[in-house]
Amino acid sequence: MYVIDVGPQYEGERVRKGEFQVEYGGPDVGQKAELVLVKEMDEVEHDKITITGMDIKDLPEGSTVPLFIKVDVAGELLERDLEAVLERRIHQYINYIEGIFHMGQRNEIWIRIHKNSFNKGLDSLEHIGRILIDLYTAELPVIEKMSVEFITDPAKVEELLTVALTVYKERDDKVKGLRDEDVEEFYGCVLCQSFAPTHVCVITAERVALCGAINWFDGRAAVKVDPEGAQFAIPKGNLIDPEYYSYDTVNQIVAERSMGEVTRFNLHSALSYPHTSCGCFEAIVFYIPEADGFGIVNRDFVGSTVIDEPFSTLAGMASGGKQNEGYLGVGVQYLMSPKFLISDGGYNRVAWMPSVLKEMVKENIPEDLFDKIATEKDVQNVDELAAFMQNAGRL
Ligand code: SF4
Ligand code: ZN
Repeated sequence: MYVIDVGPQYEGERVRKGEFQVEYGGPDVGQKAELVLVKEMDEVEHDKITITGMDIKDLPEGSTVPLFIKVDVAGELLERDLEAVLERRIHQYINYIEGIFHMGQRNEIWIRIHKNSFNKGLDSLEHIGRILIDLYTAELPVIEKMSVEFITDPAKVEELLTVALTVYKERDDKVKGLRDEDVEEFYGCVLCQSFAPTHVCVITAERVALCGAINWFDGRAAVKVDPEGAQFAIPKGNLIDPEYYSYDTVNQIVAERSMGEVTRFNLHSALSYPHTSCGCFEAIVFYIPEADGFGIVNRDFVGSTVIDEPFSTLAGMASGGKQNEGYLGVGVQYLMSPKFLISDGGYNRVAWMPSVLKEMVKENIPEDLFDKIATEKDVQNVDELAAFMQNAGRL
């Protein structure tokens, strides 16, 4: 028996180091992910909850372990387009549970279970599965069948991770080629207001949400299935500033949804009226005055960036839902967008990025610039970066 309360009042709750019974995923664990797949009706056994590997109660207090959450859903009206948005609700609903903290998305999840909740009987992942099925089916009647599988066995998680990465890539690829100019509507999301109360995400064809989990197609599918949900449509309206990609309707809706805190978004700038950031970003763009350019750091980068701060410190500066000139949380996919920081100069303004990330977005960096963007292999601090930029004829 467990006596754990569940509800939106628990969203935003943190579970700190030393307070958790068990921690799943997070920066120190490579094997972690969550995946929702839409299946045929006869492929899903409704209400089935499976645990493969050690359960909460099997682990010593304070353990940090891998986890894969695999959710299969089916319903006559469900489309695969909805998978990403349904997947994002894992974050929302797990945070509804008293004493559980969920952060991140896709293969970057981080979950902590508070000792108090464990002591109140939350000692099995099965309880979480039960709560998830109840919440999903109550809030989204389009889901007729649902099963949840928790996998903690590291080898099995590794195997499933390969599958998940393929699915994430398919979703990301879908939006390639679609331009902001081709669409009539953008989408917004306020799911993260529980942690960052004035944060609003604006998702355009060329700007994936900063969590990387919701692109334009996902936003469109979400509003179709749940018009009252955290995602909503934003009619494109008028482009009031073509250099800074500021749209009147975007500004109006962002002002309403941020309770007047933010009244203008320049959609493709980190320097002038930048998009706000909650804390879910896959990467952070940060301005380096000495190089008059940007550094970009992704969540996976270990160690200090060129400004001598690690990702976590920069995350603290960029997050919170405030408009923070010079800091911008982004989805990695945005680095591959033709509109990537176009108002600030795009890649012409990028001075430093981790070598792995640079390789990942290689095709999107103009050829003549590629060698002129420094990585951790070229420079160790801002002075060296400035010298590197000078040598490259960029300063
Ligand atoms: Fe929604 Fe943005 Fe949060 Fe992603 S980061 S869940 S798009 S508010
Ligand atoms: Zn967020």
